[in-house]
Amino acid sequence: MSFLFKKIQPWWNTLFFQRTLLSKTEYEEAIKDYIHNRLHCETYEILDREQGSIPMTSFDFTKNNTELITHIGTAGGWAKPSTGYTFLSTSKKIPLLISNLKAKGKKQNLKQEKRFWFYDLLFLDVLYRTNQKGHAIFTNLFRNRKPQLIFKFLDEETNLWEDIYYILGCPKWPFIKAFFRRLF
Ligand SMILES: Cc1cc2nc3c(=O)[nH]c(=O)nc-3n(C[C@H](O)[C@H](O)[C@H](O)COP(=O)(O)OP(=O)(O)OC[C@H]3O[C@@H](n4cnc5c(N)ncnc54)[C@H](O)[C@@H]3O)c2cc1C
Repeated sequence: MSFLFKKIQPWWNTLFFQRTLLSKTEYEEAIKDYIHNRLHCETYEILDREQGSIPMTSFDFTKNNTELITHIGTAGGWAKPSTGYTFLSTSKKIPLLISNLKAKGKKQNLKQEKRFWFYDLLFLDVLYRTNQKGHAIFTNLFRNRKPQLIFKFLDEETNLWEDIYYILGCPKWPFIKAFFRRLF
């Protein structure tokens, strides 16, 4: 269990949500700090660099579709708003897209399932107001819930009861506040 905990820990350490881009050096300093102080690795070589931004948003990208153009992948809003993961949802949506395309021949609006969209919306609201809470939220979750359930939830494959059990494993107040803010 502790092995798995260590393996997945880097993922939420890299969760960094920002409205505007920082300078390149600030990202590089943060990565160096992570390598030195978290991984305790002093000797390493940089072979390549990759850079990019993922739209962490619940915006409805299907609004950009037209009768003849269906955006796919990140452009189609297939990146999960709370994690940025796009490969999995793309692999699920492509077969659907193809069969719809064969059957109907035009416009496709493949959206995220409503309830997962709403969970992501609340999560982004919490991070938008208190960016530093991401680390604490996931630390809490991994202490309270099995990693299998967490990944099932993040893969949007849980049922409603599993969702409730998962949600109860999160710190309550930030999400309750975000929920009421959205409601009113
Ligand atoms: C650093 C980083 C790490 C990531 N890691 C993961 C991961 O581990 N797992 C995961 O699921 N997702 C990850 N993602 C999300 C990732 O972006 C997607 O999974 C995947 O690359 C999305 O594929 P895509 O084809 O939709 O978009 P992209 O890979 O961005 O491809 C779009 C292409 O279209 C081109 N393009 C854009 N505009 C135009 C235009 N007007 N005309 C012509 N060409 C254009 C772009 O140059 C680009 O080549 C990561 C993203 C980043 C930035």
